[in-house]
Amino acid sequence: MMIQPEIAVAAIPTDERVWVPQAPDVWFRPLLMNTVSGGWCNLLRVRKSGVLSRHRHPMAVVGYVIKGKWFYREHDWVATEGSFVYEPPGEVHTLEVPADCVEMITFFNIQGAMIYLNEAGEQTGYEDVWTKIEMCEKHYEAVGLGRDYVRQFVR
Ligand code: FE
Repeated sequence: MMIQPEIAVAAIPTDERVWVPQAPDVWFRPLLMNTVSGGWCNLLRVRKSGVLSRHRHPMAVVGYVIKGKWFYREHDWVATEGSFVYEPPGEVHTLEVPADCVEMITFFNIQGAMIYLNEAGEQTGYEDVWTKIEMCEKHYEAVGLGRDYVRQFVR
């Protein structure tokens, strides 16, 4: 019987290069890229009053807020430090960090994919474990960690 190696790392890295830029003022830090179930765990970091594009989750997402706060434009609650969030399959939302929050960091476990949508509800892009791995490879190569740096998080 073959068992996958475990992962035990400091979630918030001391090396800034480990954060992968995703959009202006938005980064993610890979923790587990699960190519078996098709999902991933990462930290999402947003600085300034950033906005993450509108998207749909075809499968479940859970999150835990480590620092700062954020909300979805489509809902009337605010997730603050220590909050747990569950996003059901089919959920469409736009993540926004309020102007009085300098930095937010949230752990997300995302199953399946993220489907990005425009205002008309049409698909404008998607992300899955494979596109995330590719983003990591390109970034880690560019910053000198080497494209294989992400391999330690791939299962
Ligand atoms: Fe989401």
